[in-house]
Amino acid sequence: MIIVFVGPPGSGKGTQCELLAKHLGVTHLSTGELFRIQMESGSELGRVAASFIDHGNLVPDHVTIDIVSESLGEAQFNVGCLLDGFPRSVPQAQALDALLAENGCKVDLVLALDVDRDILVDRMLERKRKDDTLETIQQRFESYEQLTRPLLDYYQNREILELVDGNGSIDDVFEGIQKAVTAT
Ligand code: ADP
Repeated sequence: MIIVFVGPPGSGKGTQCELLAKHLGVTHLSTGELFRIQMESGSELGRVAASFIDHGNLVPDHVTIDIVSESLGEAQFNVGCLLDGFPRSVPQAQALDALLAENGCKVDLVLALDVDRDILVDRMLERKRKDDTLETIQQRFESYEQLTRPLLDYYQNREILELVDGNGSIDDVFEGIQKAVTAT
């Protein structure tokens, strides 16, 4: 089963993805993590990614699509996987569809975490990540509204979208996610 997690910055996608990946025994791919590893290693790709991430912007689609194409392999296509933070735009979703179709699979379920804005900001300021400043947070919300929110319609039209209330505790949110997964 291939599951995509969508949610605004700070919605807890990473935490919930890790829990669900363990629960289902599949791998979990986070584009944010992939970029952070590249940035820490000081690679050219890391420098390119940082020039966008540090300002709260999305990394360009072609760069992101390339890194995901390189990271997904037979195991993910055969056993399934969870995608955390990818796709984040309609062109990325189309590229993912094409990549999966080439490998005989498709997105089975999209979990969209729904969290109130004030809770999101509190969570992000608490975790103290380098790109979590008030300025970049604002820009990331704008990128989310402009580029990522249209994905919800894209997947809703295919009837694979499930909205999950992400305002509660980690356990409560995970329960909602498990229900959505079991119903699929
Ligand atoms: P958050 O969900 O809190 O924004 P992530 O770790 O998922 O945190 O992502 C961190 C940053 O990495 C994003 O703000 C964005 O700049 C970049 N990024 C992650 N995934 C993508 C993607 N699919 N497309 C473009 N940029 C991405």
